[in-house]
Amino acid sequence: MKICAACFKELPKEKFSKKQWKLHQHERRCIECIDAGKEIVLEKSWGIRDTPPTVEHSQSTTLLEGAKPGHTVRFQGLKGAAHLNGTEGTLVKFLKKENRWSVRTDVDNSTVSVKPENLILYRNYHVRDKGGYASFCGPGTSGVQTMRANPGAANDPASWASGLSLEDQYEWFSNCYQMRCDDDYAWGGCNLHGPYNPEATPESIAKDFLVYCTLALRAKAIPATWNWETYLKAAPKYIVFAFEKSDARERWGSENYFEGEMGGRSLRYTGTKIYKSAVDNMGDSREHEQAEDEVDTNPVKLQKQLVGKEAWKTFVCDLRKTKRFS
Ligand SMILES: [Zn+2]
Repeated sequence: MKICAACFKELPKEKFSKKQWKLHQHERRCIECIDAGKEIVLEKSWGIRDTPPTVEHSQSTTLLEGAKPGHTVRFQGLKGAAHLNGTEGTLVKFLKKENRWSVRTDVDNSTVSVKPENLILYRNYHVRDKGGYASFCGPGTSGVQTMRANPGAANDPASWASGLSLEDQYEWFSNCYQMRCDDDYAWGGCNLHGPYNPEATPESIAKDFLVYCTLALRAKAIPATWNWETYLKAAPKYIVFAFEKSDARERWGSENYFEGEMGGRSLRYTGTKIYKSAVDNMGDSREHEQAEDEVDTNPVKLQKQLVGKEAWKTFVCDLRKTKRFS
């Protein structure tokens, strides 16, 4: 199920053309809307950076201002369905009569109707780094057990990779980058980078991706067995395309930031560890800005820290050969 950006309905695959199904959430229209000539009306607030949250996430606004179908929310204070508290869901539609949101849960894909006061909009959630990586205790949904069984994983930002085959690691790490680009697009104030830049070229994506890879290396988010040369051969088929939360759910079963914080595997969570900032933060981290500068002044130096510049040349050629550019 994906949401049509023109009618805001959540619809199954057959209600979209193949092309539309693949488009980004904010561009996708169902067959009915296209036939009826119904256009997407972009809200003024869409993509404009929100004022930074001034409240603790536990006392978030009850109005859920600016919420739209497709937005990510976190459940809080539910009594009937208390097991959902702390997990995420996606807004499906607002039920005017009941003054509730219909929300699809990440936990089991079921739909629940919830009062606005029991929801926190993702962008209102201010990420706090609890002292480096202390809160990261490795993948697996049984976070606490993982931590007990393998206390070393608690401090290892590369532990997302454990339990994944090499190919899956390559795909996951690429998806992590794509998810961040998607979030920056949706929440980060019109920050269109990587594949989301409408004027993207193979070179511009490679440059943006080099920043990501460099930051990942510096954040120690790369597993010991990693081979950059083979990874750069695998990455192009993913990173030139958009990737959003529904894709994450389809491919990886779930995508829940809070799960990552509790020890599960989360693309978004690892993304914030790599970029050292949340998408709703007040701009890029110092580390991020520095890496951007370095890529501008001496890209070859950064390339060489990962793998020789020849491999990067091949990488740009491979990006050009993808469907997006050919
Ligand atoms: Zn529609």
